[in-house]
Amino acid sequence: MSSLEFLSSVEKVFDDSSKILGLKYGISNQIKLANSTYTVRFGVKLRGKIFTFIGYRSVHSDHREPVKGGIRYAPYADQNEVEALAALMTYKCALMDVPFGGSKGALVINPKEWEDDELEKITRRFTQELAKRDLIHPSQNVPAPDMGTSQREMAWIADEYSKLNPREINSLACVTGKPETKGGISGRNEATGRGIQYALREFFRHPGDVKFSGLKGNLSGKKIIVQGLGNVGYHAALFLSEEDESIIKTVIERDGIIYNERGINIKKLQSHMIETGSIIGFPGYQKNDKDYLCEDCDILIPAAMEGVISSKNARQIKAKVIIEAANGPVSYEADKILINNEKIIIPDLYANAGGVIVSYFEWVKNLSHIRFGRMQKRETEKHTFNLIEAMEHLTDKKIPKKMFEKIIKGPSEISLVRSGLDDTMREGYSAISKKWNSEQLITDLRTAAMVIAIEKIAKDYNSIGI
Ligand code: NAD
Repeated sequence: MSSLEFLSSVEKVFDDSSKILGLKYGISNQIKLANSTYTVRFGVKLRGKIFTFIGYRSVHSDHREPVKGGIRYAPYADQNEVEALAALMTYKCALMDVPFGGSKGALVINPKEWEDDELEKITRRFTQELAKRDLIHPSQNVPAPDMGTSQREMAWIADEYSKLNPREINSLACVTGKPETKGGISGRNEATGRGIQYALREFFRHPGDVKFSGLKGNLSGKKIIVQGLGNVGYHAALFLSEEDESIIKTVIERDGIIYNERGINIKKLQSHMIETGSIIGFPGYQKNDKDYLCEDCDILIPAAMEGVISSKNARQIKAKVIIEAANGPVSYEADKILINNEKIIIPDLYANAGGVIVSYFEWVKNLSHIRFGRMQKRETEKHTFNLIEAMEHLTDKKIPKKMFEKIIKGPSEISLVRSGLDDTMREGYSAISKKWNSEQLITDLRTAAMVIAIEKIAKDYNSIGI
């Protein structure tokens, strides 16, 4: 799928939903189009000569500020792709009640072609260019990691921004997804994958939706295919296999696939990838000689990139549930085919919101300059201890040691982050499921999610007189 088709897919879903809501053309168009997209070309002296890089930062909607969205490093990034991704961020934040507008950035680069110190130099230069125009700023525009970037790049960005603004007390809040040693929050790295797990758990708590899909029970024993074992795919596959007893039967990567009908050991596979730089040589390796997305499974998790399910392969998809861990993996046309075939698609703007939800917590932490749980952990423990003591006194019985240790534990930052993420994912699924099941015009979860998001953004615009 070309980047223009990706953007057009996002816009077509928007148009359908806007029509259902009966929005007037003016407000509908205001919401739909990107407010601005900045293109920068900058030179960096490397290997004895000057290389010119192209970067983008698109602000889709600043009805709420700061605007928020990742920065990806990819050799094929362009303006259409960045605008499509920025639009998705606007709808995602609105749907999940994360108080940000939508933005996205990209640097046209293949990170594998550069050494670490070269990448650092390029990232710092890109940061300077964006910061000059407040396209990185704690109260205006807050990037995060995306494809090809990680905590490491976010730490460089935060450090460069702090150097440029030494008197800005909130400078660490200029970017999220940072390492914990540099103002990050526990659980951000795993957040998008963790969100996928929570979304699927919530799906299985909705018996009507589960029945519609043709599945039964819960996540235990469900056969799953994952495409892309990067940040999102790895964490989703790890948690689903280790904590929910799901069977990851196939992992599809760039350089082949791993297949194991009894379930792949995801931790071992990732260690192999880190050690060798590839999945080649891991038990169950096969060449990517056919479209493995179309193989038999219960749940399909595309977690690599946009446009991988199109009108070309949608009819052959066998999974009963497709959860969009990546942004835009299902094209508009494919979406219609899959819905017609009574597949459940848990849409990207809901499913992969875990990253921005925990980014929101990180931003709040940076602005409040205190770790979550620091004030209440010991107080909660003291309070619980007093309750247990009173109970033991009244019943003349002792609570077993293991149970005592479990109950007494006060909230840590990671437990609070997971609790906040779980709550937001549960509420989000319940809202889109309710809308889908109660309104005749709404034929699927994506339209339900989009209708809820657009309604909220339109209300925001109306309240400020636009
Ligand atoms: P990543 O770079 O960490 O991982 C992507 C993985 O997909 C890599 O292992 C890569 O080798 C693999 N891949 C790429 N193209 C492939 C192909 N054609 N077939 C099979 N495998 C392929 O990226 P990520 O951060 O995990 O992001 C993945 C997707 O999730 C993107 O669409 C991104 O926009 C979306 N997303 C990421 C986050 C986040 O917090 N990182 C949040 C929301 C959405």
